[in-house]
Amino acid sequence: MAEAVRRLEGDYVLTMDDEARLLPSAAVDIGSDGRIAAVGAIADLGPAPSDVDRVGGLLMPGLVNAHAHTPMTLVRSVGDGLPLADWLRDGVWPREGRMTAEDAWWGMVGGSVEMLESGVTTSCEMYLFEDQVADAVERTGGRAVVTPGVISALSPDGRVDGRLAEIVAFHRARHDPEGRITVGFAPHSVYDLTPEQCGEIAAEAASVDALFHIHLEETRAERELVIERYGRPATQLLAEVGAFAGKAMAAHGVWLDADDRRILAEAGVAVAHCPLSNLKLGSGIAPVREMLADGIVVGVGTDGPASNDNLDLWEELKMAPLLARGRSLDPRAMTARTALTLATSASAMAIGLSDVGHLSVGAHADLIRVDLDQPAFEPGEDLLTHLVFAGSSRYVTDVWVAGKRVVRGGRVQTVDRDKVLAEMAARGRRLGAGV
Ligand SMILES: [Zn+2]
Repeated sequence: MAEAVRRLEGDYVLTMDDEARLLPSAAVDIGSDGRIAAVGAIADLGPAPSDVDRVGGLLMPGLVNAHAHTPMTLVRSVGDGLPLADWLRDGVWPREGRMTAEDAWWGMVGGSVEMLESGVTTSCEMYLFEDQVADAVERTGGRAVVTPGVISALSPDGRVDGRLAEIVAFHRARHDPEGRITVGFAPHSVYDLTPEQCGEIAAEAASVDALFHIHLEETRAERELVIERYGRPATQLLAEVGAFAGKAMAAHGVWLDADDRRILAEAGVAVAHCPLSNLKLGSGIAPVREMLADGIVVGVGTDGPASNDNLDLWEELKMAPLLARGRSLDPRAMTARTALTLATSASAMAIGLSDVGHLSVGAHADLIRVDLDQPAFEPGEDLLTHLVFAGSSRYVTDVWVAGKRVVRGGRVQTVDRDKVLAEMAARGRRLGAGV
């Protein structure tokens, strides 16, 4: 354990560890290794290190975005109102087809700034241009699980081994559990690839204990297509090819039935719930209460910023319990505390990271300060409920990742923000020209 070099003191600390403790007048000690050296009530902590920063407010873990395609900031709001298949074919894919590696870098930098400034310290990224995605996150000071995508368009001969070799090499080069980038594998879906290809990719991921990340049961049309093509649903097909043997997370799960959920629960497959994306694209409302009751680890994700249309996970934090309650006609369907767990420690667990999403000794010092000096947090008797239902990213003032302050006063400190915005505007316009 590294020696504590700095102490951040808050009016409250919300740990989101197993006990999800809300500690008044508490502090987080950060070690020279960027990890948490101590956390607790100030009165109970040992002698303070020489550097004490009395930041006040609420200190809590940074939020964890379990499913995103962040470079799609450059195609934000494209094709609004179109069904998923048309939205991809007519709006998104023509623009993405023109995207250069440099575009992807700027799109990822811009999205990373957007996440950091809203208090999201980690995201799980499914995209191409994995080198640029990882480089951009290194640059902004965020943290990411980079899961390079595999799509059929890159494997027209039906073989995935070429792309798979690239991802294996990328994993070898960039996977760093002690750093801010870890690496997984992301076949797009069973309907885009084949179940056998997904199994092949999962075996490679499992061989290096990396996350297998796939879209699953996002739309009813997709479910029907898979059943028509293979005679059974995607979850069963994936289980049959051994795709769930290692660490695995499925994004969406809107149309999972009870049999599918049982398979996922037994195999320990997590689900990234993306409620806003599912609503915006008219895909439906995922059975999250049922998933939780079945023992499935559920995180929350924004999905790509073209189907949301932002990367502000506070909206998912609020929408997840609202939808669970509305769908089941029961206000007990999801508590504020559970919603906070979904957006922090459960999302982290879903994407294969055990030391983010909670403030505990030894965890990465990824935390945010929420300004409580706001009408929205009065009268404040039940702060957790205020955070979920009255809170917002606009109250996030400061953000630390691996102990380094990357946002101060609501503004990112690591990159030239004006330059980032100008590049996003120019590059987004160029991608759209002629479509
Ligand atoms: Zn997605």
